[in-house]
Amino acid sequence: MSASPRLGVLGWPVAHSRSPAMHNAALAAMGLAWRYQRLPVPPPLFAETVRALGGAGFVGANVTIPHKRAALALADAATEAAREIGAANTLSFGADGTIAAENTDAPGLIAALPPRVAGRSAMVLGAGGSARAAVWALTRAGAEVTVWNRTAERAAALAEELGARAAIRPQPAELLVNCTSVGLGKLASEDETLNHLGLSADLVGGYAHVVDLVYSDTGPTALVEAARRRGATALDGIEVLVRQGALSLQVWTGREPSLRIMREAAMRPPAAI
Ligand code: NAP
Repeated sequence: MSASPRLGVLGWPVAHSRSPAMHNAALAAMGLAWRYQRLPVPPPLFAETVRALGGAGFVGANVTIPHKRAALALADAATEAAREIGAANTLSFGADGTIAAENTDAPGLIAALPPRVAGRSAMVLGAGGSARAAVWALTRAGAEVTVWNRTAERAAALAEELGARAAIRPQPAELLVNCTSVGLGKLASEDETLNHLGLSADLVGGYAHVVDLVYSDTGPTALVEAARRRGATALDGIEVLVRQGALSLQVWTGREPSLRIMREAAMRPPAAI
């Protein structure tokens, strides 16, 4: 009898990832005896480790910081989305040894947003890997996207490449997406968070929907709290994590996992996992 198919998340560091708990809960609910594990791999070992995974029984792997660009570079085939974004978060290992790359961060963000993004204005904060996926997804979905970043030249380059507009400070819009790492760790106070993001309390009050890709073990992020208090609908990064994970699991299993089960598992803080 062959061993159970394996899945995992490649990252460095990856110890605090919620993906194993989230995916294993979904796999169990689907009645699949597959196993999803952490794969801590430092950058110099990334390519050789990934090439060995298929032979070791892995069907697929998620990819997180700092490997998303390297994952795309070593794949034999990639979706148009992954190529245009310049990063992959989902790898699939074929029986013939080939590696296919996809990006589910972009459709995962769209799935987490309120319906009808087309025609809406969107303000994206940040110009790193997740901002690239967000700008790509939002422009493709028909939103009018403006990008702000602490380092202005990066916002300008990203906007030009992906068909958005760059701004030297955050602008009013219907939708705000924070793709910076501000709010992670101990930078918890609202004033400090808004200050680092170039936002005023009034500006935050003007966005109808706010998505913060950051999430915290201690409840809503300062940005999410500030937005909700001023009447916006606001989501933190857990929902985006769940949505991108569900899309990856669908790629590997061909089946739709339960979002509710994935969400419940992802919301449990790592200490309780
Ligand atoms: P990244 O490529 O390293 O980019 C980091 C971004 O944050 C850059 O735009 C950087 O600006 C900005 N930044 C960092 N410190 C800042 C500060 N003190 N003030 C203002 N801006 C600052 O990271 P990434 O991969 O895009 O990830 C960004 C965040 O999203 C991380 O917290 C990550 O955990 C989260 N994320 C969540 C999900 C999810 O599923 N929920 C998925 C992907 C990412 P500069 O260019 O000026 O340095």
